[in-house]
Amino acid sequence: MQGTETPDAGTTRQTHGFQAEVRELLKLMIHSLYSHREIFLRELISNASDACDRLRFLAIADSSLLAADPELSIRVDADPTAGTVTITDNGIGMTREEAIANLGTIARSGTAEFFRSLPKDDQQASQLIGQFGVGFYSAFIVADRVEVHSRKAGAAPETGVRWESRAEGDFTVETLTRAERGTSVTLHLKEDAREFADAFRLRSLIRRYSDHIGFPVRMRKEGEASLEYEVVNQAKALWTLPRTQITDEEYRQFYQYLAHDFTDPLAWSHNKVEGKREYTSLLYIPGKAPFDLYQREAVRGLKLYVRRVFIMDDAEQFLPLYLRFVKGVVDSSDLPLNVSRELLQQEPEVEAIRSGLTRRVLDLLARLAKDEPEKYATFWKEFGAVLKEGIAQDQANEAALLPLLRFASTALPDNSPSASLADYLGRMQPGQERIYYVIAETLDAARAHPAIEALKARGLEVLLLAERIDEWVMGQLETYEGKRFKDAARGDLELGGLASEADKMRHDAELKESKGLLKRIKDSLGERVTEVRISDRLRESPACLVLGEHDLGDRLRRMLAAAGQKTPDARPLLEVNVSHPLVRYLDAIADAGQFNELAQLLYEQAQLAEGAVLANPPEFVLRLNRLLVRLSAGPQDGSPAASS
Ligand code: ADP
Ligand code: MG
Repeated sequence: MQGTETPDAGTTRQTHGFQAEVRELLKLMIHSLYSHREIFLRELISNASDACDRLRFLAIADSSLLAADPELSIRVDADPTAGTVTITDNGIGMTREEAIANLGTIARSGTAEFFRSLPKDDQQASQLIGQFGVGFYSAFIVADRVEVHSRKAGAAPETGVRWESRAEGDFTVETLTRAERGTSVTLHLKEDAREFADAFRLRSLIRRYSDHIGFPVRMRKEGEASLEYEVVNQAKALWTLPRTQITDEEYRQFYQYLAHDFTDPLAWSHNKVEGKREYTSLLYIPGKAPFDLYQREAVRGLKLYVRRVFIMDDAEQFLPLYLRFVKGVVDSSDLPLNVSRELLQQEPEVEAIRSGLTRRVLDLLARLAKDEPEKYATFWKEFGAVLKEGIAQDQANEAALLPLLRFASTALPDNSPSASLADYLGRMQPGQERIYYVIAETLDAARAHPAIEALKARGLEVLLLAERIDEWVMGQLETYEGKRFKDAARGDLELGGLASEADKMRHDAELKESKGLLKRIKDSLGERVTEVRISDRLRESPACLVLGEHDLGDRLRRMLAAAGQKTPDARPLLEVNVSHPLVRYLDAIADAGQFNELAQLLYEQAQLAEGAVLANPPEFVLRLNRLLVRLSAGPQDGSPAASS
């Protein structure tokens, strides 16, 4: 943090530059965030409420912190003549150092990357800013100058701090005497934002956005000279009310307050558990994934309260990692008030709440999928890949997770992931015993995968997968409703009762006829493949590679390699389509050099078709061109014409 002393003032006044990300954020907010300007009030009241929460928590251990002014509350004052709005709390307050650190930087990890990834178009960027959460800096959406006065709870009056900025890249701080504990934030409104100095407008915004925070918000009573204040919000934590007393709109507003989101949640679940253990939870499924959903250090978790007292944000112990997109509150009656993050990890009570909440979320998703499929499709698009992690992480809930999965499928006209496993079961053919799927780099490549040609030709449905974690996830799945999952590119197709007598006879005949050819190809390819055999997978393609049931797939191998792990080389087997003209042509080649070259091409194109990277692409191209030239020159030295 760069600071410069201005010696003449004699009051230790300092100027500091904002962190680069803050400058970026301020610029965006000032120039493009027009659509939700009123959110500044929600953000500042939310900070005031957090400050009260924190002090109440500290006061459990040291009640003297509250002594002089025990009722925690928030005040909003407007001065239409001066064009100012002031939000005051008697919460925890800040020291000078804290004001510099907290109001000059953004602590959230991944912030720099987030700003770098924002689109250059201001309009689009401002929409994304919503999911980032603008916090304190939202004051500058409506104000061209912001003043903060603060004193830390428990500190001496002469250690107050005054912070001020015009958002022009820097801010100043100076030490002040401040008698009252807590913080007041004064906004000097911009010309075009004067409407926010109107008491009537402020009241309605507070009722709309801050009705259900846990502290009273007071404003001056109506009437010119009134010095009396009255409470303008309900000041009852929303989750403590019975469900029947809460409207959908109130639930939505509370989500927006909690998640600092502009948009509505997709669904929520509000429950009170009573009996042996007692807790209340209010859980939300957001409508949009946050930018740091996949960042390891990203904060996640629920707001934890114990008997209405705020304990901590981001208590991640109450939900498994694969439900990290859930936002909400849990309020326990059984945990000790002095519970810390470390203690939470050992508390058996937490484990019990966690499994209860996990069930709640899975039930909520099941209900959404059943009653509001369109919203569920949105959910799946945003969070499906995260939910899938649950298949590997949470075997105990597999039965609840499987029906929530959605897939792209050969039975659907496009690549939208909308097939459920129940849909698949409903479309299975008589005698079909397996749920077929195939994984590729893209859904289009999966749909065209050589290994599923015969399945498609038989009218059998194949689920299509192309996400990074799919190989890992699908590897964990065994059965759904008694039907085994089957990777169509591994082992045998296991057609079971679907293969007719005629199929088997054809296979035997082909095998007899092609024994010599298969051996020649294997001899030619050597150790690159474990075996060369006749295929019952192929129709249009001449060859494909098949992995053993438990071999590491190519994608997973590359992922592990990228993470610096050594992996054993999995050697596939090569399946050939002996009725394909190219294979027939190969069979008739007498010249050993030409045979090797074409056998190698067959192998390489099978690699390419499944999205693998060739060991030596230029050589492949040379070989391919030699073959093309030879074919275009017509039959030579006894090779058959490629006439079939
Ligand atoms: P967040 O609330 O998500 O932490 P903000 O940008 O809203 O982010 O606020 C930044 C920080 O500034 C807070 O974490 C807090 O430390 C401090 N802060 C803001 N407002 C207050 C306040 N009224 N009282 C005490 N500290 C505050
Ligand atoms: Mg905040």
